[in-house]
Amino acid sequence: MRYESTRGGAPILEFSDVLLEGLASDGGLYVPKQWPLITKTELRSLANVPYAEVAQRVLAPLVGPSISFETLGDLTHRAYANFRHDEVAPVVELGEFFLVELHWGPTFSFKDIALQLLGQLFEYELERRDKKITIVGATSGDTGSAAIEACKDRAGIELVMLHPKGRVSEIQRLQMTTVESLNIHNIAIDGTFDDCQDLVKAMFAQEKFRSEMSLAAVNSINWARVAAQSVYYVTTALKLGAPDRKVSFCVPTGNFGNVMAGYMASQMGVPIERLVVASNHNDILSRTYETGTMSMEPVRPSLSPAMDIQVSSNFERLLFDLSERKGRELAEQFKEFRRSGNWVLNSEVLKTLRTKFIADKASDEQVLSTIRQVHQKTGVLVDPHTAVGISVAERQPPSSSAMAIMSTAHPAKFPDAVTEATGSAFNLPPELSSLSSLDERCDFLPNNLNLVMDRVREVTK
Ligand SMILES: *Cc1c(COP(=O)(O)O)cnc(C)c1O
Repeated sequence: MRYESTRGGAPILEFSDVLLEGLASDGGLYVPKQWPLITKTELRSLANVPYAEVAQRVLAPLVGPSISFETLGDLTHRAYANFRHDEVAPVVELGEFFLVELHWGPTFSFKDIALQLLGQLFEYELERRDKKITIVGATSGDTGSAAIEACKDRAGIELVMLHPKGRVSEIQRLQMTTVESLNIHNIAIDGTFDDCQDLVKAMFAQEKFRSEMSLAAVNSINWARVAAQSVYYVTTALKLGAPDRKVSFCVPTGNFGNVMAGYMASQMGVPIERLVVASNHNDILSRTYETGTMSMEPVRPSLSPAMDIQVSSNFERLLFDLSERKGRELAEQFKEFRRSGNWVLNSEVLKTLRTKFIADKASDEQVLSTIRQVHQKTGVLVDPHTAVGISVAERQPPSSSAMAIMSTAHPAKFPDAVTEATGSAFNLPPELSSLSSLDERCDFLPNNLNLVMDRVREVTK
């Protein structure tokens, strides 16, 4: 598969280069030149197949010829071997809905599903090239620990992770800062997640720094993450009756990586009725959907911090595909958007967006009452991100297709919100409760590009 940039000004690359490049050299994001198709017969043949093998077969056309089918199989098997559930992404009933439990990886959020594979892919490719990289990432909470867990002690990788100081939960912070591996470096930034993300983007934009440090990305701007996430749309659809029945998905959304993977699965032939984009009160996506104008607003902290986002970076991939892949035009529009903070979507793009997607939001109050009601009715505890999805799904008009809600984190990752909602404390799993007795390692820096770059230079020496 060959890949092009959403801004039309970067070289066409193959998968392994896209993997290591992260952001394209023109500031855009890489997407495959075309969507590989999975036929109905192929879909049928994937039913009841182990997750790692579905991943191998779904991802093969996207990673070839860079990575052979056999190698890919080794990597997917290793990536999913240490999940705490042998189905990797089990589907359970929740009243009239289905929950896709994506939180059985080592750090208890859905980020593990992509990042465990990414760690394997990086290690394989770096060894093959006899190369070293410096991964810099920004996290609103869950990416950080998942990336750290996937990359710790891997040869050839230094990992620098930025998080917004005081804006990630205590458990999320501990999951990052208590890792002892010497190739892991945490920096808490005085600012928001968007500030952290802008710092990372700015480092990538500096050509000289980027090549000197061999920068690589683990944020969902990295195509391999989106690709890896498309697999559980396939396995879920199959469990719920595909290819003979259509399925809808409701996706708690921040950077648009997860739901972009759903769009990709749909383009590849998975019968998806609707993709419901669920936001918290940081609702740029549902406002855009409603008004046709994307306008930036300051981020306000919420109970679902992994979705506290001003601009969703992966939305660019969708806009590119919906606007007939006119990269140069998109680049101009992005420049204008960065300058003015407003983007009026083209009416054709908006029309297609509204046929494939629904976008809606849930307030913190709705999240708390959803956690409480789900617990009362079913005994199931859900985390605040998943609750955004459930709350939004409950307000959708009835449909003949099954509605699968992505459960993106384990409730134990956000015990404060869950306890506030249900009024009773619950026991943390031992993997999480033991963290508070460990030493933390973290630097603190202001929101200043030069200081952050100095620190990256230091740790990679
Ligand atoms: C990252 C994250 C999200 C948002 O996912 P995107 O792919 O960024 O849209 C939602 N919920 C949880 C728990 C997350 O960690």
